[in-house]
Amino acid sequence: MPRTPGADEQRTKASSQITSTPLSVVDKAFVKALPKAELHAHLSGSISAQTLHELWERRVTKGECLKLQDPLDVMPSSREDVNIVSFFPIFDGYIYQLLNDVESIQYATESVIADFARDGVAYLELRTTPRESLSTSRAAYVEAVHQVVGRHNLFTGGESDQDRGIEVRLILSIDRSMAPEQAEEVVDLALKHKGDYVVGVDLCGNPIKGDVTSFTPAILRAKAQGLHLTVHFAEVPGTATELELSTILSWQPDRLGHTDDVGIFGSPLSNEYLLAAMNFDLGAQDLVGLSRSAASITFADCRVLKTKLDRFEDTLRLADVPDQH
Ligand SMILES: [Zn+2]
Repeated sequence: MPRTPGADEQRTKASSQITSTPLSVVDKAFVKALPKAELHAHLSGSISAQTLHELWERRVTKGECLKLQDPLDVMPSSREDVNIVSFFPIFDGYIYQLLNDVESIQYATESVIADFARDGVAYLELRTTPRESLSTSRAAYVEAVHQVVGRHNLFTGGESDQDRGIEVRLILSIDRSMAPEQAEEVVDLALKHKGDYVVGVDLCGNPIKGDVTSFTPAILRAKAQGLHLTVHFAEVPGTATELELSTILSWQPDRLGHTDDVGIFGSPLSNEYLLAAMNFDLGAQDLVGLSRSAASITFADCRVLKTKLDRFEDTLRLADVPDQH
């Protein structure tokens, strides 16, 4: 899709400023350095093609997954061609086949958290659907992810490493294709780990599947026990019915949301900030404000992020950044 002239203009404007006052310039380096909160990340959708390739390679070496093609050949090379319709089959037919034992689940979780940390994310709410496979139960799946998150959060707690840390929280997803009792099991698992790293439940999955009204008891139980609720809604035309809307609103969700997964669409959060800056003519201070607004709607306290944002803003002030708005 051709970029709008406005975006091009902004990009030229941004790059022409780079040589003068580096810290005031909203460019790739700035948006990466900006401490950010990622509040809509699906674990399986955030796995890079390279990590999937590594997972695939490990399995093939063991004589498994021999019918699967190399992910580097299968993942769409032009990310702009992926849409909500072509998106779900990639997961159903492919990614989940590579993520069905503890070893691969943990390897993928490690890589995803490391990728977000490298992109300057300081607070991450990672969503994942507890998935049953031949070798893992839903409980074992959550335990596997939970262990990796725990290791990262311990690392974050180290005083001297504060600057490099990323705080990670988990949101367990109820997939629309689940039976009501499976949704109850997800809530059980979320409640079991509430107080460690699990901060909420999510409703996700292929929007053309399932009947959300059947999840009401599970969702209300989660909320009554203090879990937060985030919901995917109206992702494709035609499924956003009045009944679905009134059901979801009756749950009083904390957040409604929909984003494009970085693993599939290839646009990291820093790039989303850059695109916003280019298309809406935002300056450095505006972007700090955007990150602060995300920090204000996290499901848990985001101390590391707030500290980092304060420091980042101090650095901007020292550089005497003109507030562009
Ligand atoms: Zn989503």
